[in-house]
This record gives sequence, structure tokens and C-alpha cells, in this order.
Amino acid sequence: MEALVVSAKQRIAELGRKMVSSGLVAGTWGNISVFIRQEGLVVVTPSGMDYDKIQAEDMVVVDLDGKLIDGSRKASSETPLHLAIYRARPDVTGVVHTHSEVASSFAVVRQRIEPVVEDAAMLVGGAVEVAEYALPGTEDLAFNVVAALGQRNAVLMANHGLVGVGATLEEAFTVCQVVEKCARIYAWSCLLGTPVLLPDEDIAKLSKVYRSSYGQKK
Ligand SMILES: [Zn+2]
Repeated sequence: MEALVVSAKQRIAELGRKMVSSGLVAGTWGNISVFIRQEGLVVVTPSGMDYDKIQAEDMVVVDLDGKLIDGSRKASSETPLHLAIYRARPDVTGVVHTHSEVASSFAVVRQRIEPVVEDAAMLVGGAVEVAEYALPGTEDLAFNVVAALGQRNAVLMANHGLVGVGATLEEAFTVCQVVEKCARIYAWSCLLGTPVLLPDEDIAKLSKVYRSSYGQKK
């Protein structure tokens, strides 16, 4: 157990710094977790700490019920949301929550982000739907997010931000980057004219191709 937990803590600390430098979050906002499924343990970022300063030892380890297993910090206030996703999605071991600007704008007008470019169709597996509003950190928010996420890899939280999930932590982060890019392209396309949406059957094919080739790489 120890080695897996230590490596998860290091990967999260590294990714936190990458998340700030990529502009997906500002300051202490956003949160990241890894689920070590074979141990039933979730490693999650601490609450309210600057990502530039977070070290591996600041991470908090909880079980799927949220019981503290290890760590001297307080776990992220959105931990219930991360736990609810791991309980609902056996294929997910990484969750990244960001407040990136263009995706969040769609969350404010409560409009789903259509997968208008192929990388988004592959990674998300469909549109990024908007979960119904609930206050941050609540079980209601966790419930709404899981419902709107379904079997796809990204979901918007109304008037709040974006959640990306993946088979790995790194994939969840890529999902957040690609959704932000797709949101920008979709918004620009709407300004320029009428976006032509990819048909559902092509989105399903793109997602299937991505998932099968990704599976072989593991
Ligand atoms: Zn947030």
C-alpha cells in the first residue's frame, strides 16, 4: 500500500503545479484526487492550499466513505464529490476539478459544451452536460454531478466549473485541458456562424476507437 500511496501523492503534487501553469485554476481553487482501487483508498489535495506550494506530504488519504486514513491537513471540501464519482464509475481512478474560464462560462449560461472537435469527442465520449446547481462541498452537488456525468468523462457544475475524470489521473487532466480548448472553439464558432455538430454515431465511433487503442497501451 505504502508505495502506491506515496507515488499517488507525488503525481498529484506535480499535476497541481501543472494545473496552475496551464491556467486552468487560480490560487487555491480546484482539486485533484487519485483512487487506489485495490486498496480502497483515495488520495486527495488538501483544502485551501496554494498549488505552487503543495508538497506530496500535504495530501490527505481517506477511504471511500470519507474516513481519514492518513494526513495532517484537512481534505479538500469537494472530497464528497470525488468519492461519489469513484463509487459510481468503476472505470475511473483520477478526478480533476478546475475553474477554467471558457468552460465555466458555459456553466454560467448553463449550456452544454458540444464535442465539436474530434479530440473532445474521443476523450469525453459525448457532450459535456451541466449538473444542476447545488452549493459547493455538499452531498447534493456530488449527487447532481454524478447524475449529469453519466458514462462520459467530463461534466460542468452550474455557476462553478468543470470536472474531468479518467482511467488515470493524467487522463483526467488531459480531459480538462481538451474540454477547455473545445469550449473556446465552440464559443468562437458560435460567434463566426453556425457550428456544424458531429453526428452522434461518429462521436460514439471516435470514443470507441480512443478507448480501445488506449486500452492496448496500458
Ligand atoms: Zn470548485
